[in-house]
Amino acid sequence: MIRLEGISKSFGKQQVLDRIDLTVQKGEVVVILGPSGSGKTTLLRCMNYLERPDQGVIGIGTQNIQGKHPGRREIHRLRQRTAMVFQQYNLFKHKTALENVMEGLTVVRGISKDTAAEIGIGVLEKVGLGDRLHYYPSQLSGGQQQRVGIARALALNPEVILFDEPTSALDPELVGEVLEVIRRIAEEGITMIIVTHEMGFARDVASRVVFMDGGAIIEQGTPDDIFQRPREERTRQFLRRIT
Ligand code: ATP
Repeated sequence: MIRLEGISKSFGKQQVLDRIDLTVQKGEVVVILGPSGSGKTTLLRCMNYLERPDQGVIGIGTQNIQGKHPGRREIHRLRQRTAMVFQQYNLFKHKTALENVMEGLTVVRGISKDTAAEIGIGVLEKVGLGDRLHYYPSQLSGGQQQRVGIARALALNPEVILFDEPTSALDPELVGEVLEVIRRIAEEGITMIIVTHEMGFARDVASRVVFMDGGAIIEQGTPDDIFQRPREERTRQFLRRIT
């Protein structure tokens, strides 16, 4: 379980997150929607301290972490429990698909190369890249690179996978294959928090949709609650604009 309590964050004078509370249960797939600039990515990045919240507590499993300056070990422990899939994949260009997946296992987790390779091959097969193990990122399509990014996250066997707009850098014809992989993983009961602009996907995969605007959670509910019967005018406006 992940628990955010009173998370606030400003960049200079601009308050980007305003006392956000959010609890995500094990196995939930939570999709965060909202207009550009509403703070979605910042909130996600606070969850593993890629951004440091000014205030608030993040509880994950048995760990609670808070404040702007927790110890390095605290941050390390938090990151051991989470994995992030980035918009721009963030793969090492000079490493193959398999080496990219193995890197976190050997360097961060201290797992032996043989075991890491075994795990790496397993997760790459799972994302449909069993025949691309030794390809470099430049030899892969954007969709395939992002699937390596997802395999890398899966390999770490985290308590939660955080997806930061995983398809927004992709050509439209490559979006489907990545969403399909995420959908398949979601069915395995892995806890996920996904920031996306893909409404059809959100509706399809989310167990809960959280709508943010202006650094706050405006409302949340099942996809049907949010898409069919939004309670708040701001949610309705947002949905009118994008559909
Ligand atoms: P989008 O859907 O466009 O990605 P978002 O809802 O994810 O938007 P954020 O990326 O969290 O929004 O950004 C929220 C606000 O914080 C924006 O106004 C953005 O310009 C600002 N911001 C984000 N990161 C930084 C940073 N490192 N330094 C300064 N301002 C930032």
